[in-house]
Amino acid sequence: RTAVALMSLRIGLVGLGTIARAQHLPAIAATDGIDLCAVASRNATADVQSYTNIHTMLAIEPSLNAITLCTPPQGRFEQAMAALESGRHLMLEKPPGATLSELDALRREAVRQGVTLFATWHSREAAAVPFVRSWLAGKTIRSIHIDWREDVRKWHPGQAWIWQAGGLGVFDPGINALSILTALVKDVLMTKADLYVPIGRQTPIAADLVMKSGSTPITANFDWRETGDELWRITFETTEGTLVLDQGGAFASIDGVIVAQGENREYAGLYARFRDLIAAGQSDVDLSPFSLVADAFLSGAYHLTDPFTD
Ligand code: NAP
Repeated sequence: RTAVALMSLRIGLVGLGTIARAQHLPAIAATDGIDLCAVASRNATADVQSYTNIHTMLAIEPSLNAITLCTPPQGRFEQAMAALESGRHLMLEKPPGATLSELDALRREAVRQGVTLFATWHSREAAAVPFVRSWLAGKTIRSIHIDWREDVRKWHPGQAWIWQAGGLGVFDPGINALSILTALVKDVLMTKADLYVPIGRQTPIAADLVMKSGSTPITANFDWRETGDELWRITFETTEGTLVLDQGGAFASIDGVIVAQGENREYAGLYARFRDLIAAGQSDVDLSPFSLVADAFLSGAYHLTDPFTD
């Protein structure tokens, strides 16, 4: 393990789709100590050795020491287990899997193998999140409201898996808001959920959530039927003003005045952290955002709504 930690990371990426191309490949290229050495994808190839599945890649490329999974959550478990059982460090896109129990199994296997398991939450790396964390410290939050609305036709064209069981529906983007929320306030509980599922689909197109953190009430509206500009906003009403974390965490304002902003370095941050976790012999698997989604599905009321066609 120490020898591996001192070597450069030789990464095998699985699932060459939207997010892999848009974020993972550039972030790996920009991170010291990490090299993309192989890709496994059924239909796509990259400028490195390319395989159609992870099993062949793991068998033929013994020098790979880390795997990053960018496939949809359903079916990720078998790939993740194969990576861990072969002794490779593993980084998971959000959501980390399809069920909570499979993540327990992955955690145990990572410990058994002595490798790093990193369940990523890219939105926690957004530019204005650190400012908001330090500004909120010690202040009294009266209430929190999340608006997370986007046009599913614009952001998820042709992605059949998001509508299939385990694909999370509108919680696929919504879990990003929950990942920021759980990084900023403690012990969030789900108290009420209304889930709106289009007739003929398996996952919600919209959700209204009621949560709390201690005595602080938290509400959320997730909606994929937005036809205007996307709205990825968390509003904190505090005794010292209204703090708005906007554009997915890129901007923060207090009482309408921008107080923090920066360029998007979310995935560069994730890969640097993966490298550092491996060097330190640690894992990072915080399932609190995923548990809240599970609780919404467990406790929520389901409402059928108009059919959705792409
Ligand atoms: P995507 O465009 O559908 O890409 C996923 C890739 O995985 C596909 O291109 C496909 O490549 C491969 N794959 C393997 N098994 C698959 C299956 N059963 N069904 C569909 N594709 C399969 O999805 P994505 O948007 O990149 O999302 C992947 C993961 O990243 C999700 O967990 C998502 O929540 C997360 N994510 C997405 C975004 C975003 O903006 N899109 C942002 C952050 C995180 P082959 O056909 O070549 O195997």
